[in-house]
Amino acid sequence: MRKTIIAGNWKMYKTITQAIELANGLKRELFVLDSQKIDIVICPAFTVLSEVAEVIADSNIQLGAQDVYWQQEGAFTGEISPVMIKDAGCQFVIIGHSERRQYFQETNESVNKKLKAAIKYGLTPIVCVGETLSERENAKTFEVLDDHIQNGLKDIDEENLLKIVIAYEPVWAIGTGRTATATQAEEAQKYIRVLLGKMYNKNTADKIRIQYGGSVKPENIVELLKEPDVDGALVGGASLEVETFADIVKKSSEVKK
Ligand code: PEP
Repeated sequence: MRKTIIAGNWKMYKTITQAIELANGLKRELFVLDSQKIDIVICPAFTVLSEVAEVIADSNIQLGAQDVYWQQEGAFTGEISPVMIKDAGCQFVIIGHSERRQYFQETNESVNKKLKAAIKYGLTPIVCVGETLSERENAKTFEVLDDHIQNGLKDIDEENLLKIVIAYEPVWAIGTGRTATATQAEEAQKYIRVLLGKMYNKNTADKIRIQYGGSVKPENIVELLKEPDVDGALVGGASLEVETFADIVKKSSEVKK
């Protein structure tokens, strides 16, 4: 059985004071949940990682960063290394988010380098894949998933594949309020699992957690999670308020898989 994983991507929001307040609120709301049954992850901006790490240190909430560079250290002005991210208290890191692919020239090649670096330094990567609206409308969804998965995961062996979480995030559903239907999410996520089965083997593919991301809200999380290949969610906008994110996590913890 795959353990449900709900992650909040705080994107470029929250000052230090606001981030501490949000983390404290989540800790208060979510402490009753069993960390053996659900992974709860929050991914704030780099500038507040240490402060948030302190707040959630003795809680069932884990910390993730939103990006990482692939070098350990060096003259790479503006970049943050996996070692620094770990040092700040992170266990997870989001890699290849569509906003990075869209605005910051992220490619499958850079995703692949970041992925390998994250694994090397003991971080759990959340690798984002997914098609744009025009790609979907032109019946290219599966082609894009092939490209993102096969090239993003290039040379990742089976042992390391098991350390990865995949987030299926159709770009047209991110921040738009337009959620994929549960059927659309399941179709794509099942496709990803079958693809992983062909690249590795079915047994391993069946162990990989695949999250759905794209306008997840308390109102749609249960329906999405009921799908067999939806193992969690990557939540953007709705992770910025205690009430909505806590509601999503609580509802997720009650879905029987
Ligand atoms: C995201 O940032 O990964 C995301 C899915 O955003 P939203 O939930 O706001 O669509």
